[in-house]
Amino acid sequence: MKIIKSIVTGGAGFIGSNLVDRLVKEGHKVIVLDNFVSGKKKNLSHHSKDNIKIIRLDISNNQKIDKYFKGVKYVFHLAGLAEIVPSIKNPKKYFINNVLGTLNVLEAAKKMRVKKFIYAASSSCYGSPKKIPTSETERIDTKHPYAFTKFLGEEAVINYAKFFKMPNISCRFFNVYGPRLNTTGQYGAVFSNFLTQKKKKRSLTIVGNGKQTRDFIHVEDLTSAFIKLARSNLKNKIYNLGSGKETSINKIADIIGGKKIFIPKRPGDPNRSCANISKIKKDIKWKPKISIIEGIERLFQS
Ligand code: UDP
Repeated sequence: MKIIKSIVTGGAGFIGSNLVDRLVKEGHKVIVLDNFVSGKKKNLSHHSKDNIKIIRLDISNNQKIDKYFKGVKYVFHLAGLAEIVPSIKNPKKYFINNVLGTLNVLEAAKKMRVKKFIYAASSSCYGSPKKIPTSETERIDTKHPYAFTKFLGEEAVINYAKFFKMPNISCRFFNVYGPRLNTTGQYGAVFSNFLTQKKKKRSLTIVGNGKQTRDFIHVEDLTSAFIKLARSNLKNKIYNLGSGKETSINKIADIIGGKKIFIPKRPGDPNRSCANISKIKKDIKWKPKISIIEGIERLFQS
């Protein structure tokens, strides 16, 4: 059997390490490029050196990264900075990481003629969309530097697909949750905060009135879509990647159970978010399998 080589940038992070698990399970040799700012060694410590190679580097520096792309079939580009409030405090840092970083990875993938390049974009590009569920044709309205820089990364990915006929795909992630979610950081994702709070028997912090909704997709559903996209003949495409279901923060808190405290609203926090996933469902014959109830059960059992 011919060995398939894949690169996962940000492979030591929450989503990246879950993707690495899946690729290794399917027989790939994986090269992880990660600067270990938010990524953790322990997310990958269960893998043997035969299956994965971990390279500590920052894709946004002008380091020679081309050599790692030699003979690589699939590139999954997940590395980037991912918090909204810090992006408002330091937009340039976000630009360097998320835009220049993406350009560097694109250049290396172009030079080494990889078979497929998949980019982790963000549903934050829609701002507060008029239409819910939101389709890929919705107006772009970036409301903070995080959204702006992730969107510019996507523009680069799609423009490289056009200019250089690269086999690129961009996936706009909605709210991803599952094992190895980062539980640190001042502005943690809702599930990270709730997990820590529940463990420490503290009240769950509800931002605003908790009626705001999000589309939560389990990381396992997301990685299976990613792998299907890589193997497909599709290119130069943008897809929403969510569950297609809308859940309020209050509902999540009720499922988890326990006391709630209400804290002030965050800047640029949309009231509703839900993906229209018709396009990806049709193109790769994929659908999410893990319901929010099952996903929460799994998360709080582990
Ligand atoms: N949120 C909350 N409590 C928390 C953390 C977040 O109520 O402890 C809210 C947050 O304001 C947002 C939603 O949960 O409305 C999802 O937040 P998250 O940071 O997970 O993702 P976002 O969609 O904002 O990128």
